[in-house]
Amino acid sequence: MVGAQPAHAGGVSDKHMNQPLELTVMMYHYIRDRGDEAEAGTGISGMPVLAFEAQLDDLSNQHTFVTWPEVRMAVQGQKPLPTSACLLTFDDGVLDHYVHAFKILRERNISGLFFVMDRCAMEGLVLAHKIHFLLAKLGLTRLREILWENLNATQREQFTQAEKKYLSKYPPLSLDKGINLLKAVLQRDLSMEVDSVLGNLFEAYVGSEKETARNYYLNSRQIQEMVAGGMHFGGHSQSHPWFDWIDAEARTVEIKASAERLQKIEPGPWAFAYPYGGLSEDSPALLQQHGFVAAFTTQTQLRHTDPYFIGRLDGEEIAQDGQDYA
Ligand SMILES: [Zn+2]
Repeated sequence: MVGAQPAHAGGVSDKHMNQPLELTVMMYHYIRDRGDEAEAGTGISGMPVLAFEAQLDDLSNQHTFVTWPEVRMAVQGQKPLPTSACLLTFDDGVLDHYVHAFKILRERNISGLFFVMDRCAMEGLVLAHKIHFLLAKLGLTRLREILWENLNATQREQFTQAEKKYLSKYPPLSLDKGINLLKAVLQRDLSMEVDSVLGNLFEAYVGSEKETARNYYLNSRQIQEMVAGGMHFGGHSQSHPWFDWIDAEARTVEIKASAERLQKIEPGPWAFAYPYGGLSEDSPALLQQHGFVAAFTTQTQLRHTDPYFIGRLDGEEIAQDGQDYA
């Protein structure tokens, strides 16, 4: 999802590969059309199914699709990738990936790597997804107003300070940029404070959060079917926090939960995708300790020297802008 991006200084781990990895990694989130099973009347838009298929056509003309096990072998120095290799990745474990991505990939005999949250202890939606629903329902101005009414004096002060801090990075010059500013405030500085406030707003303006979450995320049966159909799964934390915002203890909990979830899906070692692309110095070591051999960012990059800092291209953004994949 489009969210706030802190400044990064390139690779953060010392686990450099002998040979840089030349690999185009595509990143996808929602793939849906208005009114379909994945969109389900939520008003939350995504990459249209036809645009996704057209992008796969383009990519297949320029690239050789590879699987996660092939990338893993390359990362571990066992076997190089073919030239112009391309890996398709999908974040957040949403239903779109079962009803659209999986179906389309299977028809084309392509494998995808799907980054899912550990939902075992979670009944509701992660904060980022609560925000998506509420923005779609209320719009930016109204959501900001209602939120403000529901914050106490201390939280309002925090909100104002955070907004000031992100203003230069996300000048609200357009609706999209205004949304990014609000997201940065809510997903980082106020993430603890607003989670229950947003939960209450969800019940008031959208409906049952638990019920929504049940249909929103991939269930075990769908995941099993996708594995049987040649798809692979990686970790995407438990509660989807910014890793540079939470502390080391919380990062460990998030990564450990991911490993435990993946153990029930497919044998490791696994891949990980940083929630919102947020990075921290200790993440590579923590990931390595828990059975992850690679991690994917949201930074645009086609040549990767650090297995815990593999960049990706945003497929939806490319489709919208009509950019080339280079
Ligand atoms: Zn995500």
